Amino acid sequence: MLSENLQEVQAKIDKALAARKEAKLTGETVTLVAVTKNHPPEVITESLAAGIKSIGENRVQEAKHKQEALGKQGYWHLIGHLQSNKARQAVALFDLIESVDSERLLVALDKEAERIGKVQDILLQLNIAHEEQKSGFERADYEAVLPKLAAYKHIRVRGIMVIAQKCDDIEEARPVFAAGYRAFCRLKQQLKDIDILSMGMSGDYPIAIEEGANTVRVGTALFGQRDYSLKF
Ligand SMILES: *Cc1c(COP(=O)(O)O)cnc(C)c1O
Repeated sequence: MLSENLQEVQAKIDKALAARKEAKLTGETVTLVAVTKNHPPEVITESLAAGIKSIGENRVQEAKHKQEALGKQGYWHLIGHLQSNKARQAVALFDLIESVDSERLLVALDKEAERIGKVQDILLQLNIAHEEQKSGFERADYEAVLPKLAAYKHIRVRGIMVIAQKCDDIEEARPVFAAGYRAFCRLKQQLKDIDILSMGMSGDYPIAIEEGANTVRVGTALFGQRDYSLKF
């Protein structure tokens, strides 16, 4: 099941990447993050065995439970909203925190990373799509935080994360992804180490890649529907 789904997803990634090369945008490879939230821990073991290296979880508690069950293997991404009071746990569990969306959270993560002698990789989540969505920096807050980023010595900003709105016609997501790519290029001119643009989920990852994403977060297309009755 997973291996067939993975083949299909990989084929679509390759096709979208080929389309982008024709458009002469930069970037050669795409990292596939397997989003294993609301699936049992074994799904992570299966993913790693299938050759996937990056695991995406959206809740600290669930990730902790799974790492205790399996040990920490692979490269873990936090993709869900993080409250500052969970910064300590998040820094202990995740290699990359994609969902950083406030200055307050930056301060908390910097402090917790310093405490354990870590430099925490993060992405800045931008709220470009707006509709029905609360998380992500608003433009004005993002502009205000940009000049301060270099001051966080225990945080390494690696790039940008964007979630598109859900739409009936996935083409409607294209301008959102295009805006994400422009923000990524701009950030690259400002900081070193900027190399990750995380955009696209099961419903829209080919379009995100065409518009410049080099990291996609895919759950349903790999593992089927999530089981929300699972408790961690
Ligand atoms: C759940 C989730 C995904 C994966 O969604 P699918 O539609 O199942 O691929 C990707 N990104 C974020 C931020 C998520 O919360």
